Amino acid sequence: MSIQVSNLQKSYGRQSAIKDLSFHVAPGRILGFLGPNGAGKSTTMKILSGSLPPSSGTISVCGLDIQRASLAVRRRIGYLPEDNPLYHDMYVREALAFVAGIHGIPDRQTRISEVIAMTGLAAEQHKKINQLSKGFRQRVGLAQAILHDPDVLILDEPTSGLDPNQLHDIRTLIRDLGQERTVLLSTHIMQEVEAICDDVIIIHQGRIIADFPLVELVARYPDKSLEALFIRITTNN
Ligand code: ADP
Repeated sequence: MSIQVSNLQKSYGRQSAIKDLSFHVAPGRILGFLGPNGAGKSTTMKILSGSLPPSSGTISVCGLDIQRASLAVRRRIGYLPEDNPLYHDMYVREALAFVAGIHGIPDRQTRISEVIAMTGLAAEQHKKINQLSKGFRQRVGLAQAILHDPDVLILDEPTSGLDPNQLHDIRTLIRDLGQERTVLLSTHIMQEVEAICDDVIIIHQGRIIADFPLVELVARYPDKSLEALFIRITTNN
């Protein structure tokens, strides 16, 4: 398995965010992590990316334990955090060079050019990040996440706040990037899962309430729109 999560729990002080989460993501699959706001998606993704320690439970990524081999795991993971923090005063190429330096990527300029081509940033590469539209900023975030050629991509709400055209383009890009990688992406929009994902996990109040291949979910509920199903599951109606 690319990602194996067992009995994960996380509390922030007395606030319990994740209650006993277990799931796996098979290599090469795109898994949608679906749930309403506050369900625990970001917390799970921060833990998987190594930026937040769990309260308990075990996680392995590409067969490596996230706590015992945290550096090796980080090399295998590309992470796009929810708010896509970027250096807004940097030029696109400059920002990518900075991140490539952190990763110690050899032959940096060649790799940056490759990633710029893969993420459709050629025309924007000499612009400042603060001059870019939200859709292109997301592309820069994705470019940063794949610079070190990770096996696993963790994308926290990667399309939030995009207009319909940008949404379509970024979803297409995520599918392309997912062809050779395992992807875990979070969203609170069912249509997003239908557009991008192979598998879906529905999380609600820190627990998994559904874990299916997408085709199975569609087959199980043929008469209902998945959006309606999601609302029904998460509101207990
Ligand atoms: P989601 O990404 O699904 O919206 P989060 O993982 O951000 O959910 O939050 C899960 C729960 O944990 C929520 O109840 C949220 O208020 C709480 N939470 C998240 N971050 C913190 C924090 N730093 N301190 C305290 N509570 C937090």
